[in-house]
Amino acid sequence: GNPLFASGGITIFEVMNELAQKHKAINLGQGAPDTDGPADIREAAARALMERSNQYPPLAGVPELLQAVADHNKRFYDIDVDPKKEVLVAVGATEALADVILGLVAPGDEVILIEPLYDSYLPIVKLAGGIPKLVRVTPPHWDLPKDELAAAFSDKTKLILINSPMNPCSKVFSDDELGFIAEQCIKHDVVALCDEVYEHLVFDGRTHHPLMTFPGMRDRTVRIGSAGKTFSLTGWKIGYITACERLMEPIKKAHQFLIFTVPPALQHGVAYGLNKGDDYFEGFTADMQAKRDFLMKGLKDVGFGVLDSQGTYFITCDFRPLGYDCDDVEFCQIMIKEAGVVAIPVSAFYQTEGAVNHFVRFCFCKREEMMTEAIERMKKAF
Ligand code: PMP
Ligand code: GLN
Repeated sequence: GNPLFASGGITIFEVMNELAQKHKAINLGQGAPDTDGPADIREAAARALMERSNQYPPLAGVPELLQAVADHNKRFYDIDVDPKKEVLVAVGATEALADVILGLVAPGDEVILIEPLYDSYLPIVKLAGGIPKLVRVTPPHWDLPKDELAAAFSDKTKLILINSPMNPCSKVFSDDELGFIAEQCIKHDVVALCDEVYEHLVFDGRTHHPLMTFPGMRDRTVRIGSAGKTFSLTGWKIGYITACERLMEPIKKAHQFLIFTVPPALQHGVAYGLNKGDDYFEGFTADMQAKRDFLMKGLKDVGFGVLDSQGTYFITCDFRPLGYDCDDVEFCQIMIKEAGVVAIPVSAFYQTEGAVNHFVRFCFCKREEMMTEAIERMKKAF
Protein backbone atom coordinates (compact mmCIF):
# COMPACT_ATOMS: atom_id res chain seq x y z
CA GLY A 1 0.00 0.00 0.00
CA ASN A 2 0.89 3.66 0.10
CA PRO A 3 3.87 3.97 2.46
CA LEU A 4 2.32 7.14 3.86
CA PHE A 5 -0.28 5.02 5.58
CA ALA A 6 1.87 1.98 6.31
CA SER A 7 3.10 2.84 9.78
CA GLY A 8 -0.23 3.71 11.34
CA GLY A 9 -2.32 0.54 11.37
CA ILE A 10 -5.67 1.21 13.00
CA THR A 11 -6.09 4.36 15.07
CA ILE A 12 -5.18 4.55 18.75
CA PHE A 13 -8.91 5.09 19.42
CA GLU A 14 -9.86 1.81 17.74
CA VAL A 15 -6.99 -0.05 19.42
CA MET A 16 -8.26 1.12 22.80
CA ASN A 17 -11.91 0.37 21.87
CA GLU A 18 -10.94 -3.21 21.05
CA LEU A 19 -9.05 -3.58 24.32
CA ALA A 20 -12.03 -2.14 26.19
CA GLN A 21 -14.32 -4.77 24.68
CA LYS A 22 -11.87 -7.59 25.24
CA HIS A 23 -11.38 -6.74 28.93
CA LYS A 24 -14.98 -5.56 29.48
CA ALA A 25 -13.47 -2.28 30.62
CA ILE A 26 -15.21 1.07 31.01
CA ASN A 27 -14.26 3.08 27.99
CA LEU A 28 -13.19 6.64 28.78
CA GLY A 29 -10.93 6.57 25.71
CA GLN A 30 -12.42 7.59 22.37
CA GLY A 31 -14.21 10.93 22.36
CA ALA A 32 -17.75 9.69 21.80
CA PRO A 33 -20.85 10.29 23.96
CA ASP A 34 -22.55 7.17 25.36
CA THR A 35 -25.99 8.69 24.85
CA ASP A 36 -27.34 10.00 21.55
CA GLY A 37 -27.92 13.64 20.72
CA PRO A 38 -31.32 15.42 20.91
CA ALA A 39 -34.37 13.42 19.76
CA ASP A 40 -35.83 16.39 17.85
CA ILE A 41 -32.71 16.62 15.68
CA ARG A 42 -32.86 12.89 14.94
CA GLU A 43 -36.57 13.23 14.15
CA ALA A 44 -35.86 16.09 11.76
CA ALA A 45 -33.41 13.82 9.92
CA ALA A 46 -35.91 10.94 9.95
CA ARG A 47 -38.60 13.20 8.47
CA ALA A 48 -36.22 14.36 5.78
CA LEU A 49 -35.33 10.75 5.03
CA MET A 50 -38.99 9.85 4.45
CA GLU A 51 -40.39 13.05 3.00
CA ARG A 52 -37.62 14.72 1.05
CA SER A 53 -35.36 13.84 -1.83
CA ASN A 54 -32.84 11.08 -1.33
CA GLN A 55 -31.02 11.87 -4.57
CA TYR A 56 -27.70 13.70 -4.85
CA PRO A 57 -27.93 17.07 -3.12
CA PRO A 58 -25.89 20.02 -4.45
CA LEU A 59 -22.11 19.63 -4.13
CA ALA A 60 -21.76 22.27 -1.39
CA GLY A 61 -24.66 20.95 0.68
CA VAL A 62 -28.44 21.35 0.97
CA PRO A 63 -29.40 25.07 0.93
CA GLU A 64 -31.06 24.80 4.36
CA LEU A 65 -27.80 23.67 5.98
CA LEU A 66 -25.67 26.22 4.11
CA GLN A 67 -27.99 28.93 5.44
CA ALA A 68 -27.96 27.44 8.96
CA VAL A 69 -24.13 27.42 9.04
CA ALA A 70 -24.08 31.05 7.88
CA ASP A 71 -26.68 31.99 10.52
CA HIS A 72 -24.74 30.15 13.24
CA ASN A 73 -21.60 32.12 12.33
CA LYS A 74 -23.57 35.36 12.60
CA ARG A 75 -25.38 34.47 15.83
CA PHE A 76 -22.37 33.30 17.83
CA TYR A 77 -19.45 35.23 16.34
CA ASP A 78 -20.95 38.09 14.35
CA ILE A 79 -19.31 36.79 11.17
CA ASP A 80 -21.21 37.68 7.98
CA VAL A 81 -21.18 34.69 5.65
CA ASP A 82 -22.60 34.23 2.16
CA PRO A 83 -24.23 30.79 2.37
CA LYS A 84 -24.04 30.26 -1.39
CA LYS A 85 -20.34 30.96 -1.75
CA GLU A 86 -18.66 30.59 1.62
CA VAL A 87 -19.97 27.33 3.14
CA LEU A 88 -19.24 23.69 2.32
CA VAL A 89 -20.68 20.58 4.01
CA ALA A 90 -18.32 17.62 4.39
CA VAL A 91 -18.32 14.09 5.81
CA GLY A 92 -17.29 15.17 9.29
CA ALA A 93 -14.49 17.49 10.24
CA THR A 94 -12.17 14.74 9.03
CA GLU A 95 -13.16 15.14 5.40
CA ALA A 96 -13.34 18.90 5.85
CA LEU A 97 -9.70 18.93 7.02
CA ALA A 98 -8.66 16.76 4.09
CA ASP A 99 -10.49 19.00 1.59
CA VAL A 100 -8.82 22.13 2.93
CA ILE A 101 -5.33 20.64 3.08
CA LEU A 102 -5.55 18.91 -0.30
CA GLY A 103 -7.20 21.96 -1.83
CA LEU A 104 -4.74 24.57 -0.58
CA VAL A 105 -1.38 22.85 -0.09
CA ALA A 106 0.82 22.21 -3.15
CA PRO A 107 3.84 19.87 -3.06
CA GLY A 108 6.73 21.61 -1.30
CA ASP A 109 4.55 24.05 0.66
CA GLU A 110 5.24 24.17 4.37
CA VAL A 111 2.48 23.59 6.89
CA ILE A 112 2.83 24.53 10.56
CA LEU A 113 1.21 22.09 12.98
CA ILE A 114 1.07 22.26 16.74
CA GLU A 115 1.83 19.15 18.76
CA PRO A 116 -0.04 17.41 20.35
CA LEU A 117 -1.97 16.88 17.14
CA TYR A 118 -5.09 15.00 16.12
CA ASP A 119 -4.28 11.81 14.23
CA SER A 120 -5.51 12.72 10.75
CA TYR A 121 -3.58 16.00 10.34
CA LEU A 122 -0.11 14.78 9.50
CA PRO A 123 -0.94 11.99 7.00
CA ILE A 124 -3.08 14.37 4.94
CA VAL A 125 -0.44 17.10 4.95
CA LYS A 126 2.06 14.53 3.68
CA LEU A 127 -0.43 13.17 1.14
CA ALA A 128 -0.73 16.69 -0.26
CA GLY A 129 3.08 16.82 -0.56
CA GLY A 130 3.27 19.42 2.19
CA ILE A 131 6.28 19.71 4.48
CA PRO A 132 5.18 19.62 8.12
CA LYS A 133 6.82 22.03 10.58
CA LEU A 134 5.96 21.01 14.12
CA VAL A 135 5.79 23.36 17.08
CA ARG A 136 5.19 21.72 20.43
CA VAL A 137 3.13 22.66 23.48
CA THR A 138 3.67 20.64 26.64
CA PRO A 139 2.05 20.00 30.01
CA PRO A 140 1.18 21.26 32.50
CA HIS A 141 0.25 24.65 30.96
CA TRP A 142 0.43 23.94 27.22
CA ASP A 143 1.47 27.55 26.54
CA LEU A 144 2.30 28.49 22.98
CA PRO A 145 6.07 29.09 22.60
CA LYS A 146 5.85 32.30 20.60
CA ASP A 147 9.50 32.47 19.56
CA GLU A 148 9.46 28.91 18.24
CA LEU A 149 6.22 29.56 16.45
CA ALA A 150 7.55 32.72 14.82
CA ALA A 151 10.69 30.81 13.76
CA ALA A 152 8.56 28.10 12.12
CA PHE A 153 7.20 30.58 9.54
CA SER A 154 9.15 30.95 6.30
CA ASP A 155 8.50 32.21 2.78
CA LYS A 156 7.37 28.64 1.94
CA THR A 157 4.68 28.50 4.65
CA LYS A 158 1.21 28.07 3.15
CA LEU A 159 -0.92 27.00 6.09
CA ILE A 160 -0.98 26.86 9.87
CA LEU A 161 -3.39 24.46 11.53
CA ILE A 162 -4.84 25.52 14.88
CA ASN A 163 -7.15 23.32 16.96
CA SER A 164 -8.85 25.38 19.67
CA PRO A 165 -10.28 24.09 21.97
CA MET A 166 -7.49 21.58 21.59
CA ASN A 167 -7.63 17.80 21.63
CA PRO A 168 -6.20 16.09 23.73
CA CYS A 169 -4.94 18.77 26.12
CA SER A 170 -8.18 20.74 26.58
CA LYS A 171 -6.38 24.01 25.97
CA VAL A 172 -8.37 27.03 24.79
CA PHE A 173 -6.02 29.40 22.99
CA SER A 174 -5.93 32.79 24.69
CA ASP A 175 -6.76 35.99 22.81
CA ASP A 176 -3.11 36.93 23.21
CA GLU A 177 -1.97 33.69 21.54
CA LEU A 178 -4.56 33.99 18.78
CA GLY A 179 -3.57 37.61 18.20
CA PHE A 180 0.06 36.54 17.86
CA ILE A 181 -0.87 33.79 15.37
CA ALA A 182 -2.94 36.32 13.39
CA GLU A 183 0.01 38.73 13.24
CA GLN A 184 2.31 36.01 11.93
CA CYS A 185 -0.24 34.87 9.33
CA ILE A 186 -0.63 38.40 8.03
CA LYS A 187 3.11 39.10 8.05
CA HIS A 188 3.91 35.93 6.08
CA ASP A 189 0.72 35.80 3.97
CA VAL A 190 -0.34 32.45 5.42
CA VAL A 191 -3.79 30.83 5.63
CA ALA A 192 -5.01 29.63 9.05
CA LEU A 193 -6.94 26.37 9.12
CA CYS A 194 -8.96 26.33 12.34
CA ASP A 195 -10.29 23.02 13.57
CA GLU A 196 -13.01 24.33 15.88
CA VAL A 197 -15.04 21.14 16.34
CA TYR A 198 -15.18 21.82 20.11
CA GLU A 199 -16.42 25.42 19.67
CA HIS A 200 -19.39 24.85 22.01
CA LEU A 201 -17.30 23.01 24.59
CA VAL A 202 -15.53 25.84 26.38
CA PHE A 203 -15.95 26.07 30.13
CA ASP A 204 -15.94 28.33 33.18
CA GLY A 205 -17.58 31.27 31.45
CA ARG A 206 -15.05 31.41 28.62
CA THR A 207 -16.31 32.23 25.14
CA HIS A 208 -14.91 30.72 22.00
CA HIS A 209 -13.13 33.29 19.83
CA PRO A 210 -12.65 32.10 16.26
CA LEU A 211 -9.34 33.25 14.77
CA MET A 212 -11.48 34.31 11.79
CA THR A 213 -12.83 37.23 13.85
CA PHE A 214 -9.38 38.75 14.48
CA PRO A 215 -8.44 41.86 12.45
CA GLY A 216 -7.19 40.95 8.98
CA MET A 217 -8.13 37.27 9.36
CA ARG A 218 -11.62 37.07 7.82
CA ASP A 219 -10.37 36.17 4.36
CA ARG A 220 -7.32 34.17 5.34
CA THR A 221 -8.99 31.78 7.80
CA VAL A 222 -10.83 28.54 7.12
CA ARG A 223 -13.11 27.52 9.99
CA ILE A 224 -14.31 23.96 10.56
CA GLY A 225 -17.18 22.78 12.78
CA SER A 226 -18.72 19.36 13.37
CA ALA A 227 -22.25 18.24 14.18
CA GLY A 228 -20.70 15.19 15.82
CA LYS A 229 -19.40 17.32 18.67
CA THR A 230 -22.00 20.08 18.80
CA PHE A 231 -24.98 17.70 18.87
CA SER A 232 -23.46 14.54 20.37
CA LEU A 233 -24.01 12.70 17.08
CA THR A 234 -20.47 11.57 16.25
CA GLY A 235 -21.70 8.77 13.98
CA TRP A 236 -23.42 11.20 11.64
CA LYS A 237 -20.12 12.54 10.35
CA ILE A 238 -21.40 15.92 9.23
CA GLY A 239 -18.85 18.71 9.24
CA TYR A 240 -18.99 22.23 7.82
CA ILE A 241 -16.42 24.63 6.45
CA THR A 242 -16.62 28.42 6.38
CA ALA A 243 -14.15 30.34 4.21
CA CYS A 244 -14.06 33.24 1.78
CA GLU A 245 -14.85 32.42 -1.86
CA ARG A 246 -11.21 32.66 -3.00
CA LEU A 247 -10.13 29.93 -0.54
CA MET A 248 -13.34 27.95 -0.93
CA GLU A 249 -12.92 27.36 -4.69
CA PRO A 250 -9.98 24.90 -4.45
CA ILE A 251 -11.43 23.37 -1.26
CA LYS A 252 -14.64 22.60 -3.17
CA LYS A 253 -12.60 20.97 -5.92
CA ALA A 254 -11.01 18.60 -3.41
CA HIS A 255 -14.47 17.79 -2.03
CA GLN A 256 -15.80 17.26 -5.57
CA PHE A 257 -13.23 14.64 -6.43
CA LEU A 258 -13.08 12.90 -3.05
CA ILE A 259 -16.75 12.73 -2.05
CA PHE A 260 -18.84 15.07 -4.25
CA THR A 261 -21.74 15.37 -1.80
CA VAL A 262 -23.06 14.33 1.61
CA PRO A 263 -26.26 12.37 2.53
CA PRO A 264 -29.15 14.86 2.46
CA ALA A 265 -31.33 13.64 5.36
CA LEU A 266 -28.56 14.06 7.91
CA GLN A 267 -27.83 17.52 6.50
CA HIS A 268 -31.46 18.50 7.13
CA GLY A 269 -31.19 17.17 10.68
CA VAL A 270 -28.07 19.26 11.31
CA ALA A 271 -29.70 22.37 9.77
CA TYR A 272 -32.53 21.90 12.27
CA GLY A 273 -29.98 21.51 15.07
CA LEU A 274 -27.97 24.62 14.21
CA ASN A 275 -31.21 26.62 14.19
CA LYS A 276 -32.10 25.57 17.74
CA GLY A 277 -32.43 28.33 20.34
CA ASP A 278 -29.62 29.62 22.52
CA ASP A 279 -31.00 27.50 25.38
CA TYR A 280 -29.87 24.33 23.60
CA PHE A 281 -26.29 25.56 23.20
CA GLU A 282 -26.11 26.98 26.74
CA GLY A 283 -27.59 23.79 28.20
CA PHE A 284 -25.17 21.64 26.24
CA THR A 285 -22.13 23.57 27.50
CA ALA A 286 -23.45 23.51 31.08
CA ASP A 287 -24.16 19.74 30.97
CA MET A 288 -20.70 19.01 29.67
CA GLN A 289 -19.08 21.29 32.22
CA ALA A 290 -20.94 19.41 34.97
CA LYS A 291 -19.63 16.12 33.56
CA ARG A 292 -16.13 17.55 33.43
CA ASP A 293 -16.37 18.66 37.07
CA PHE A 294 -17.69 15.27 38.10
CA LEU A 295 -14.91 13.29 36.45
CA MET A 296 -12.26 15.79 37.49
CA LYS A 297 -13.17 15.43 41.16
CA GLY A 298 -13.14 11.65 40.84
CA LEU A 299 -9.73 11.60 39.16
CA LYS A 300 -8.33 13.88 41.88
CA ASP A 301 -9.75 11.53 44.53
CA VAL A 302 -8.04 8.59 42.81
CA GLY A 303 -4.77 10.50 43.18
CA PHE A 304 -3.95 11.55 39.62
CA GLY A 305 -2.21 14.85 38.93
CA VAL A 306 -5.19 16.38 37.14
CA LEU A 307 -4.53 19.22 34.68
CA ASP A 308 -6.88 22.08 33.87
CA SER A 309 -9.55 21.33 31.27
CA GLN A 310 -10.67 24.56 29.63
CA GLY A 311 -12.61 22.94 26.80
CA THR A 312 -13.25 19.79 24.66
CA TYR A 313 -14.47 16.39 25.88
CA PHE A 314 -11.27 15.61 27.73
CA ILE A 315 -9.21 15.76 30.92
CA THR A 316 -5.50 14.96 30.90
CA CYS A 317 -3.77 13.55 33.98
CA ASP A 318 -0.26 12.86 35.18
CA PHE A 319 -0.21 9.31 36.54
CA ARG A 320 3.17 9.53 38.32
CA PRO A 321 1.57 10.68 41.61
CA LEU A 322 -0.02 7.19 41.72
CA GLY A 323 3.47 5.74 41.96
CA TYR A 324 3.95 4.55 38.37
CA ASP A 325 7.11 5.42 36.49
CA CYS A 326 6.38 3.54 33.24
CA ASP A 327 5.44 5.23 29.97
CA ASP A 328 1.86 6.18 29.16
CA VAL A 329 1.15 3.27 26.79
CA GLU A 330 2.21 0.81 29.46
CA PHE A 331 0.21 2.67 32.09
CA CYS A 332 -2.93 2.44 29.91
CA GLN A 333 -2.38 -1.31 29.59
CA ILE A 334 -1.93 -1.67 33.35
CA MET A 335 -5.06 0.41 33.94
CA ILE A 336 -7.12 -1.80 31.63
CA LYS A 337 -5.96 -4.99 33.30
CA GLU A 338 -5.88 -3.85 36.92
CA ALA A 339 -8.75 -1.36 37.01
CA GLY A 340 -10.83 -2.20 33.93
CA VAL A 341 -10.78 1.41 32.69
CA VAL A 342 -9.63 2.65 29.29
CA ALA A 343 -7.92 6.00 28.62
CA ILE A 344 -5.79 7.25 25.74
CA PRO A 345 -2.01 7.72 26.07
CA VAL A 346 -1.22 11.36 25.27
CA SER A 347 2.05 10.38 23.53
CA ALA A 348 -0.12 9.09 20.66
CA PHE A 349 -0.64 12.76 19.73
CA TYR A 350 3.07 13.54 19.50
CA GLN A 351 5.41 12.80 16.61
CA THR A 352 8.42 13.62 18.74
CA GLU A 353 9.16 10.40 20.59
CA GLY A 354 9.53 10.69 24.35
CA ALA A 355 8.34 14.31 24.31
CA VAL A 356 5.44 13.71 26.67
CA ASN A 357 4.90 10.23 28.08
CA HIS A 358 3.45 10.45 31.58
CA PHE A 359 0.00 11.69 30.73
CA VAL A 360 -3.27 10.01 29.84
CA ARG A 361 -6.49 11.46 28.43
CA PHE A 362 -9.89 10.66 29.93
CA CYS A 363 -13.15 11.43 28.12
CA PHE A 364 -16.07 12.79 30.15
CA CYS A 365 -18.94 12.87 27.63
CA LYS A 366 -20.29 9.79 29.41
CA ARG A 367 -23.19 8.91 31.71
CA GLU A 368 -22.52 9.73 35.34
CA GLU A 369 -23.03 6.12 36.44
CA MET A 370 -20.29 5.01 34.05
CA MET A 371 -17.88 7.62 35.38
CA THR A 372 -18.78 6.70 38.98
CA GLU A 373 -18.07 3.05 38.29
CA ALA A 374 -14.76 3.92 36.58
CA ILE A 375 -13.68 6.02 39.55
CA GLU A 376 -14.62 3.26 42.03
CA ARG A 377 -12.61 0.75 40.02
CA MET A 378 -9.57 3.03 39.86
CA LYS A 379 -9.76 3.80 43.59
CA LYS A 380 -9.65 0.07 44.30
CA ALA A 381 -6.80 -0.63 41.88
CA PHE A 382 -4.47 2.29 42.67
N1 PMP B 1 -10.70 17.28 14.87
C1 PMP B 1 -10.55 16.99 16.18
C2 PMP B 1 -9.68 17.84 17.03
C3 PMP B 1 -11.23 15.90 16.72
O1 PMP B 1 -11.08 15.60 18.02
C4 PMP B 1 -12.03 15.11 15.87
C5 PMP B 1 -12.68 13.86 16.36
N2 PMP B 1 -13.52 13.94 17.28
C6 PMP B 1 -12.16 15.46 14.54
C7 PMP B 1 -11.47 16.55 14.07
C8 PMP B 1 -13.00 14.67 13.59
O2 PMP B 1 -14.33 15.05 13.64
P1 PMP B 1 -15.46 14.32 12.78
O3 PMP B 1 -15.90 13.15 13.57
O4 PMP B 1 -16.51 15.35 12.59
O5 PMP B 1 -14.83 13.90 11.50
N1 GLN C 1 -11.87 12.58 17.95
C1 GLN C 1 -12.03 11.40 18.75
C2 GLN C 1 -11.03 11.45 19.86
O1 GLN C 1 -10.12 12.22 19.85
C3 GLN C 1 -11.76 10.14 18.00
C4 GLN C 1 -12.25 9.99 16.64
C5 GLN C 1 -11.63 8.75 16.04
O2 GLN C 1 -11.85 7.65 16.58
N2 GLN C 1 -10.85 8.90 15.03
O3 GLN C 1 -11.15 10.67 20.76
